[in-house]
Amino acid sequence: MPPLTKAQASEIEEYDYFVIGGGSGGLASARRAASYGAKVGLAEATPKLGGTCVNVGCVPKKVMWYTADIADNLRKAAAYGFGKDGEGNRIAGDFNWTELKHKRDAYIKRLNGIYETNLVKDKVDYHSGFASFIDANTLQIDGLDGETYQVKAKNITVAVGGRPTIPSEETIEGAQYGINSDGFFDIEEQPKRVAVVGAGYIAVELAGVFNTLGTETHLIIRHDQVLRTFDPMLSEVLVPYMEKTGLNIHKSSNVKKVEKTSSGSLLVHVDSLDKPLEVDVLLWAIGRHANTEKLGLEKIGIKTDDKGDIIADDYQNTNVSNIYAVGDVAGKVLLTPVAIAAGRRLSNRLFGPEKYKNDKLSYENIPSVVFSHPTIGSVGLSEPEAEEKFGKDNLKVYKTSFKAMSFAMLDENHKQPTSYKLICTGPEEKVVGLHIIGEGSDEMLQGFGVAVKMGATKDDFDSCVAIHPTSAEELVTLR
Ligand code: FAD
Ligand code: NDP
Repeated sequence: MPPLTKAQASEIEEYDYFVIGGGSGGLASARRAASYGAKVGLAEATPKLGGTCVNVGCVPKKVMWYTADIADNLRKAAAYGFGKDGEGNRIAGDFNWTELKHKRDAYIKRLNGIYETNLVKDKVDYHSGFASFIDANTLQIDGLDGETYQVKAKNITVAVGGRPTIPSEETIEGAQYGINSDGFFDIEEQPKRVAVVGAGYIAVELAGVFNTLGTETHLIIRHDQVLRTFDPMLSEVLVPYMEKTGLNIHKSSNVKKVEKTSSGSLLVHVDSLDKPLEVDVLLWAIGRHANTEKLGLEKIGIKTDDKGDIIADDYQNTNVSNIYAVGDVAGKVLLTPVAIAAGRRLSNRLFGPEKYKNDKLSYENIPSVVFSHPTIGSVGLSEPEAEEKFGKDNLKVYKTSFKAMSFAMLDENHKQPTSYKLICTGPEEKVVGLHIIGEGSDEMLQGFGVAVKMGATKDDFDSCVAIHPTSAEELVTLR
């Protein structure tokens, strides 16, 4: 069923619940509310449902990570006796970025359709347009079909997500020549040379994809480590390995100016380099900010912080009683499952049975993975955070480093590193942090996340018999 027309919308007197934003958090919250019989509407400002995660985030990114992982495995295959090329290592050299990009786009388009079908199935009215506040119960919808109309709702959730941050021209001349992570997914042909600026999830993941697929890749970071909000061990293992695989990491470096040449390439002037870097693509990955500017929040006095994120309490309440904020726009932990869980719990609380009247998401011990090469998994406190919370003397930290068995047939120089850390506190050695880097860490973390969330101790870990031969077994045999 297509989105509602203005005429259809004008027949609806008032919604019980209206959600602004058809991304991870908004869709989940709207559908959960409708499952309890509430009359629910949802507006999405772009023609595509699914939000950042589906269109320009987790999903197409993971397709690219799988692609790069396959390239890694092709290199590995030769060491296991599969056909080598004349020179020695790789069995299949040809990779067609353009073909893969088009297949990836088609996959995403199918997902957009599934999200639309799900809204119909769950009886959520879909409004295709940009929503903004007129008052605390009234929204204006500027439809993508050019029509403008109003809807009324008793409760409204803002789930508008965010977008990538790019330096202004005043800060860095020529910054506009760079793309951001949205633009990454538009790239039609594999660039020969790229520079990625940033040191967080996106910079590490996308630089990793380019490098693993054979693009000359430069990563420009302000400090000497990446992922500085994570446990330091992770960067200490990842950075040298990235460098070993040919990724050029420019540390303590800042972009000063960007120029476009007559051939279309970019000259990136970096303060730590004598000569500018000449690249085909410059990608800014320096963080994201909330889409709150044009929502009319000021008309109803919704408070935002100095970054523009909506201030919401543990129950996703804003300072206006019938208005809530869910997902990236609330600026807490910018992850899809967080937006989904917060959105669903809010709807449980507002429209669900009595048992959910205090339902809320706990933001403690949320597991997260960085899809680097090799992958990283992390749950709980980093060692510096644990030291600050419990004191160094009240911690016992277990560590191990090894080369996973799947690299046994490779020469030392081509083996990926693996390092695990368990941070425990108190006489019972409760596990308060678990940090892993190494092949398979992405799939390993979920189960260990359950254990940490349940309050497992080191003894609990040790009481679980190891699964042999795996990498994961090292986490239940730490000494
Ligand atoms: P969004 O998904 O951004 O949805 C907001 C929606 O609101 C958008 O569709 C937008 O068009 C719409 N909108 C905005 N303003 C209006 C308006 N006024 N009216 C109507 N609609 C409006 N997270 C993970 O957990 N795992 C990953 O691997 C991962 N990888 C990522 C990779 C990249 C490159 C990026 C950028 C993000 C990644 N994330 C990942 C983060 C994840 O995508 C976000 O945390 C998640 O999408 C947030 O969901 P949300 O509902 O808050 O916002
Ligand atoms: P992040 O906030 O994770 O990282 C951005 C980093 O860029 C900062 O930590 C900072 O690192 C550096 N930086 C900031 N400003 C500048 C600047 N002006 N110049 C140079 N470097 C700068 O943002 P991302 O854009 O990487 O990702 C946004 C969010 O999306 C993530 O926080 C994450 O929640 C989510 N995400 C999740 C993924 C997953 O789950 N796998 C994957 C991708 C995104 P420093 O201070 O060290 O310089």
